[in-house]
Amino acid sequence: MDHFTYVNSQLQAEGVALRRIADEVGTPVFVYSSAAFEGHLRAFDSAFKAKPHLVCYSVKVASNLALLSKVAKLNLGADIVSGGELFRALKAGILAEKVVYSGVGKTASEIKQALAAGILMFNVESEPELSLVSSIAKDQGLKAPVALRVNPDVDPSTHPYLATGLKESKFGVPVAEALSLYLRAKDDPNLSVIGIDCHIGSQLTSLSPFVDTVSRLKVLLGKLRAAGLNIKYLDLGGGLGITYESENAPSPAEYAQKILSGLGDEEVTLIFEPGRAVAGNSAVLVIKVLYDKITPEKRFVITDGAMNDLIRPSLYGSHHAVAPLTQAQAGTDSIKVNVVGPVCESGDFLAKDRLIPPVSAGDYLAVKSAGAYGFSMSSNYNSRPRAAEVLIEGDSYRIIRARETQEDLIHGETL
Ligand SMILES: *Cc1c(COP(=O)(O)O)cnc(C)c1O
Repeated sequence: MDHFTYVNSQLQAEGVALRRIADEVGTPVFVYSSAAFEGHLRAFDSAFKAKPHLVCYSVKVASNLALLSKVAKLNLGADIVSGGELFRALKAGILAEKVVYSGVGKTASEIKQALAAGILMFNVESEPELSLVSSIAKDQGLKAPVALRVNPDVDPSTHPYLATGLKESKFGVPVAEALSLYLRAKDDPNLSVIGIDCHIGSQLTSLSPFVDTVSRLKVLLGKLRAAGLNIKYLDLGGGLGITYESENAPSPAEYAQKILSGLGDEEVTLIFEPGRAVAGNSAVLVIKVLYDKITPEKRFVITDGAMNDLIRPSLYGSHHAVAPLTQAQAGTDSIKVNVVGPVCESGDFLAKDRLIPPVSAGDYLAVKSAGAYGFSMSSNYNSRPRAAEVLIEGDSYRIIRARETQEDLIHGETL
């Protein structure tokens, strides 16, 4: 369901017209719908109600405290990939005992921080990381709860940058080597081996890679249990795709149905780390047209939003729908344009060869499906202050991150 729809020709979410936010807060601005964000979290959680499970929202996807506090209020957990994300998750009220920690390059200080906080488990991605976690746990007189992130070598059929479970990937431990590493970890008095983890990629619109993964991990689970390991958790990562353009993305319910039937009556608590499926279609990026520039070759709609605000088109060539905040009148002929920003890179575009209604300077556009890997991947490139973030809740909205100022740009710098 699209939470951003036209009402009386104005694009709105819940009870608030985006035009009002653009006028009052300025642009570029990320506008999130709390109903969408929470609705997607609830859909995920209830899809698995037949089985013990924990939904750990992937913090890197959209990490504003106000969003994380929605996760906390629903009693859900977090999947983190850095100490900074742990700091955010705890600040927002997410319980440490519901936090899982993934990532190939955890530093010693991050491991200490997470151990001291009492997280649910470390998703360990290599043998040297396992040794480091063990020695830090020993120093602190603690037993570290661990899962191994297993690389099942399945092809998620997604953008190459988004595939993480192929055998050439930097992520995880190859499934064939996992058993021997598990057996070593089992005998380590500083470790408590409690789970199997994986995350095969992102923006998957086919369910068969997930089904293949479940069947491979079930085999491993059987071997581990036969070897006397008490595996309580099976963490299947995130990765469920969304509709940006015309992709036929499965719903959380369809995803759950396949996974639960693949799993059978295996007694294990499932963990999921959804990110994009929660946040992606929960926000739009509202931008303003600066110039309509016509060259002999192309027509450029130059806006105040750019690749530093939303890098996905530049980084992955990804598609985001672009829609005017005020709906064009029926019968208006479209123009074919590149929607670009002010950044000094030819790779700075938000949409290419796109048909949109004619626009003029001052008009607002919404770049849709911008909630996942949008603000969280934004930067200050070209010394552009980062955009504001706004959250709509019913008939009102609030600023959940102030637009950065020029002073913010030089924070911590010296002459
Ligand atoms: C990025 C990431 C996720 C979230 O992936 P989505 O495709 O956004 O659901 C989950 N787990 C891990 C380990 C990740 O790195």
